[in-house]
Amino acid sequence: MKLLIVGGVAGGASAAARARRLSEHAEIIIFERGPDVSFANCGLPYYIGGEIAEREKLLVTTPERLRERFKLDVRTNSSVEKIDRATRTVLVRNVLTGQEYSESFDKLILATGAAPFLPPIPGADLPGVFTLRNLHDTDQIKQQVVRGVKQVVLLGGGFISLELAENFVRLGVATTVVEKNSQVLMPFDPEMTTPIVQELADHGVTLLLNQAAEAIERSVDGLNVCLNSGLRLPAQLVIFGVGVRPENKLAVEAGLEIGSRGGIRVNEYLQTDDRDIYAVGDAIEVTDAIQGIPTQVPLAGPANRQGRIAANNIFGLIEKYRGTQGTAIVGVFNRTAAMTGSSEKVLQRLDQPYRKIYIHPMHHAGYYPGAEGMTLKLLFDPRDGKILGAQAVGGAGVDKRIDVLAVAIQAGMTVYDLEEMELSYAPQYGSAKDPINMAGFVAAGWQRGDHPQVDIETVLSAPEHERPFVLDVRTAQEFDGGHIPGAVNIPVDELRNRLSELPRDRSIAAYCQVGQRGYLATRILLQHGYDVANIGGGYKTYKLFFPDRA
Ligand code: FAD
Repeated sequence: MKLLIVGGVAGGASAAARARRLSEHAEIIIFERGPDVSFANCGLPYYIGGEIAEREKLLVTTPERLRERFKLDVRTNSSVEKIDRATRTVLVRNVLTGQEYSESFDKLILATGAAPFLPPIPGADLPGVFTLRNLHDTDQIKQQVVRGVKQVVLLGGGFISLELAENFVRLGVATTVVEKNSQVLMPFDPEMTTPIVQELADHGVTLLLNQAAEAIERSVDGLNVCLNSGLRLPAQLVIFGVGVRPENKLAVEAGLEIGSRGGIRVNEYLQTDDRDIYAVGDAIEVTDAIQGIPTQVPLAGPANRQGRIAANNIFGLIEKYRGTQGTAIVGVFNRTAAMTGSSEKVLQRLDQPYRKIYIHPMHHAGYYPGAEGMTLKLLFDPRDGKILGAQAVGGAGVDKRIDVLAVAIQAGMTVYDLEEMELSYAPQYGSAKDPINMAGFVAAGWQRGDHPQVDIETVLSAPEHERPFVLDVRTAQEFDGGHIPGAVNIPVDELRNRLSELPRDRSIAAYCQVGQRGYLATRILLQHGYDVANIGGGYKTYKLFFPDRA
């Protein structure tokens, strides 16, 4: 068996190592266009900022080590230029010498990744303008920083840009993030990004939403980024982080099937429509594990697992790839945002029935020092309670909750399962009712009808004559500090004695700060015959949607 692998980083290196573990006798050659294999792309922003001090730490392994330990033929600076399917060969070009040669294959794995998208705007090719994908880009950006950078403009408000923003602030560089959409971190629902926007502002990052770069010009002090709003941003360094495009050129030219967004199309065994050619990682179209529809998810975890599965299938351990559910996490200064499964935006776009709940728990017992808050949003199917997606933003413990929910989704669990989930607990780690259980209680209570809930958007968007009576059950002091417009304040402890102040001919939407007292108020009023629902997540959720309203 002669196996050729194109691309030597996440997917390619995983495939190669797995292949060798399965076959001591196969001939395995990795072609990597760049000088490095198996480097840690995910660490690049932190090396730029100095958090990762040594460049060598980014080299997860080296060509020499792959040769020694795995008996792999690693050919760096070697670009595969063409696949000849008829002769079962690839054309390889040494990018340093220009020398070309052919190599035959029995099986081929394409792990070519995705390239940063550089919009065709004037000045995008000027010195000082970069994208960030590999160590070469990183070295160039580092050099620029060493030469002296006072201002950086990061174009795009995605994961990589926000990680870079944190690192440039750490370096003392004035940092501006420009995002053409109305929110950062597009895979998330917009309200869940509010704490991230606040965190950026708290650390002095200027965030410009709904704006895009139209041109980049030279200036006496470096560069000017010209925005479509008319703003001109001075900078000595500009980095585009506006998304990636699958590197599909080889596949396209070889006539392999390509998806509508450019990903190489594969079956569940990760084979292209030429069954001897497999493809993995950012270069491929995957199946959305929740929705069963084609999508593209450029993340390291899926790329690594796919590399392993492709090798398994080539060497006879037949395995299906289950699809990708988009479990992702990003740290922005002291905040973490993580998600898994379908977002509300996706469910709306696909016109799927869903319910959502918000909770705002502490990451461990509140009485134990150091408890940090988080917001957890859970999306589920109202027909059977099946979990469809989850997002969380906050401090410590966000990662753990999203990972638990990611597994719950994979296992096809429902909100009723979350109620029953037995998780580790001591006060410095969690709560006897973990946020996961709490999310289950709130969602299952709604499903069973004992805890009716209503979304804040539904309340506020209702026409005047249909708008529920909005009841704020917090203390008068909390109410005075800010409340939902039009709300009437009756603290929950006074509610039983002031029932006569509530309308019988109108629905009531109760709320408190996070949902707990609103729940109690809802239970009291239900038992007195009122038509009442709790506003999910209370005033804190309202503030996620309307952070600037009093
Ligand atoms: P890549 O890792 O991109 O490797 C593809 C390789 O193929 C490249 O080195 C390329 O040079 C080579 N190649 C392409 N064409 C050819 C050719 N014709 N011949 C020879 N070689 C070729 N993901 C996360 O999940 N979490 C994170 O925190 C995270 N952070 C990131 C931070 C940064 C700065 C970047 C750039 C990415 C980050 N990612 C993260 C994404 C993650 O790195 C990718 O999803 C993952 O590397 C994809 O693996 P891959 O093997 O498909 O492609």
